[in-house]
Amino acid sequence: MSKKILIVGGVAGGASTAARLRRLDESAEIILFERGEYISYANCGLPYYVGDVIKSRDSLLLQTPEKLSKKINTDIRIKQEVISIDREKKTVSVKKVDTDETYEESYDKLVLATGSSPIRPPIPGIDSDRIKTLWTIPDTDNIKQFIDEKQVKKAVVVGGGFIGLEMVENLHANGCEVTLVEMLPQVMPTLDFEMAQLLHENLRQNGVNLHLGDGVSSFKEEESFINITLSSGKEVSAELVILAIGVRPNSKLAADCGLTLNARGGIVVDEYLKTSDPDIYAVGDVIEVEDFIDKSRTMIPLAGPANKQGRICADNICGLNQKYEGTQGTSVAKVFDLTAASTGASEKLLIKRGLTYGKDYERAIVLQHSHAGYYPGATMLTMKILFSPDGSKIFGAQIVGREGVDKRIDTVATAIRLNASVIDLKELEFAYAPPYSSAKDPVNMLGFVAENIITKKVAFVKWDELKEKDENRILLDIREDMERLAYEIPGAKAIPLNQLRNRLDEVDKSKEIVVFCSMGARSYNGARVLMQNGYENVKVYPGGTMFFRSVFHDETDQIKEGGVEDMKENEQVRSGDIVTAVQVNCSGLQCPGPIMKVFETIKGIEDGQIIEVSATDPGFARDIDAWCRRTGNTLLKSEKRGNEYFVYIQKGIAKNDLAVPANVSGGNDNKTIIVFSGDLDKVIASFIIANGAAAMGRHVTMFFTFWGLNVLRKPKKQHVKKSFVESMFGGMMPRGLGKLKLSKMNMAGMGTAMMKKVMRDKNIDSLETLVKKAMDNGVKIIACTMSMDVMGIREEELINGVELGGVAAYLGDAEESNVNLFI
Ligand code: FAD
Repeated sequence: MSKKILIVGGVAGGASTAARLRRLDESAEIILFERGEYISYANCGLPYYVGDVIKSRDSLLLQTPEKLSKKINTDIRIKQEVISIDREKKTVSVKKVDTDETYEESYDKLVLATGSSPIRPPIPGIDSDRIKTLWTIPDTDNIKQFIDEKQVKKAVVVGGGFIGLEMVENLHANGCEVTLVEMLPQVMPTLDFEMAQLLHENLRQNGVNLHLGDGVSSFKEEESFINITLSSGKEVSAELVILAIGVRPNSKLAADCGLTLNARGGIVVDEYLKTSDPDIYAVGDVIEVEDFIDKSRTMIPLAGPANKQGRICADNICGLNQKYEGTQGTSVAKVFDLTAASTGASEKLLIKRGLTYGKDYERAIVLQHSHAGYYPGATMLTMKILFSPDGSKIFGAQIVGREGVDKRIDTVATAIRLNASVIDLKELEFAYAPPYSSAKDPVNMLGFVAENIITKKVAFVKWDELKEKDENRILLDIREDMERLAYEIPGAKAIPLNQLRNRLDEVDKSKEIVVFCSMGARSYNGARVLMQNGYENVKVYPGGTMFFRSVFHDETDQIKEGGVEDMKENEQVRSGDIVTAVQVNCSGLQCPGPIMKVFETIKGIEDGQIIEVSATDPGFARDIDAWCRRTGNTLLKSEKRGNEYFVYIQKGIAKNDLAVPANVSGGNDNKTIIVFSGDLDKVIASFIIANGAAAMGRHVTMFFTFWGLNVLRKPKKQHVKKSFVESMFGGMMPRGLGKLKLSKMNMAGMGTAMMKKVMRDKNIDSLETLVKKAMDNGVKIIACTMSMDVMGIREEELINGVELGGVAAYLGDAEESNVNLFI
């Protein structure tokens, strides 16, 4: 005999249950009740219709009742509300919404897919017509009509979850000035605070007024406005308020007929999605689910789980015995320029569940480009992953970035679902081509870093640990000098990475050392240098200055001390009116590439000429103002177009009192470097330093002596007359840059080849390029004539552009220098 199945609720869970039922059982009688006018519509798309991103209302209506009814041969009854269930008689009472007429319908199996509804708490003044929620198509029509009719220009969104944030963005897109009020100290509660800070920064950059950690205590309508008093006593006003402070399950039907509910009103179901009544199933927002990570019971109202539960429920009604294995809470949302996504547990949730950092869980925060840096448009991903100390379990992950966030979170979500270990992430093989990823995908990097943590090769400080001043801690900034010109870490000791090995005596071994760079990758190298030189208490600041500055963007004291500059939005200067001499594309370049490229370009133009620089890294746009001031150039304008930042820099002619003349060094601040070594790594370091100093406008002299002379040799053998001993000596020594070897781990050339590859992959200039840049930047390169004599090297064997000089030439320059290095 054919089964009669009633489904209550016709959107995500209900419609998918009906469709799957029909595919499994052609003979079943299926009736679907929906109290609203629409079924199976795109509720997730509603905010974008308000913002006019989705232009056509019809495209939100994925199915009409008539079409779906025909397609799956199902009796679909819209505007009919199920008002009670008689479990004894196995019937439901149905009210026709338009006429209030009621009738009964019997069932063999009943499915409750009644969803949830937005919360509207009893706050004074809440009943105002200016306070709206967004949940259904009619809600959306109502909001859109209100905005159009009242010409709304000022809106307040209460609640910073994903629907609230989507509404903030879409109201802003609609031309409104938007204020967001959130009772918690952060938006997007599935993220940890420091990750949410990236969103806060971006929201503020987009002109949204944020009131965090402040709830609404009352609303008061006044003429064409509504005044909102916050718990702090602050007042904000708006013409329209969108309330998006959470949902509660539509479980009254279930409660009234005695089904078991949890404390939050969610219907309790077993793993087969059966309620406490064996003939009643429930799916979607209305049910309690198992948390996939810790197997506790929870409620996670999302479209993906609702749809999958509908399918499983239909399977079980048809005897297929499918289990619902739990919900991970994988979610993603667009917040202006950023995408924020998470899966599994956040750190604050782990702590709430009683887990302790270091003992029960570990964390890594890693910054990586969305695709190969050398391919245009690469943007930064900030990723956080939480895992068990032995790495066997991934507890959760969060990613914030501009591009490629969704595919990375989905990969980690899949790994979690398949019970992969965090180390497995390093083994995953991904499709790679420069426009899409890097040879080591950001997800692989999560695996590498996690493994390094587990095997104690690296340790991180917590993002906010440095707030407390500690006499026993040294902040070690290993960025290049020219990077520090753009932003200095308050109280940090600066030793560029390439000098670290030679300046270890400046770093007190008895203290805790926290290593900083711009993104975190170089800090790891620095930390390894220290750890392998007997430093026992070394940590890395996760994500470097880029992350540090974002998570503390709102702490003005820190901002002042560190010299963070706001983007220069000079409204008077229209970018179209600026005549640029050169356009420079710095998108995706690794640090310190962009600053270096800007410097080189500026050097090549006349005073007063202007360059246009484009970059995808918001940090660059933020840094460039300080850099310009300190190098005596003028930042005319910064602006954002699409995903790119454009800055216009005029050479010299600083309009700013603070600026010093461009490229003019003030007194004895030149640099001299004696390059004694012919080791590849040491030579690279010396050229990076030389270029860095040159970028700051300093005169640099590099004095090549003994083994260092090999750097300056032409790669091809030159026909010059030499004695037998000189020829033999010359033949044994490396001829030119391409032949230099690493000082350590050369491994018969393998190490050197690997180093060159890594440099290539990381977009770091090769030694050949560094030398060329140094020469182009005016670095004086002197070959020591005395050593040439001793080693039998002739002038003809040296590359072009090298000056010959003796000790006196070097000493003359050294006397005018305040830094003199021996490498
Ligand atoms: P619903 O889809 O809400 O369907 C329940 C239906 O049951 C409703 O139409 C209701 O009218 C009907 N109903 C209730 N009681 C009765 C009754 N007694 N008789 C008859 N009919 C009844 N999730 C994501 O994963 N990603 C997103 O980007 C996303 N964005 C969203 C944006 C918005 C604006 C909204 C509102 C939700 C969004 N969601 C998103 C959440 C997602 O839409 C829900 O989790 C999902 O729709 C839940 O499915 P459901 O079937 O349980 O409930």
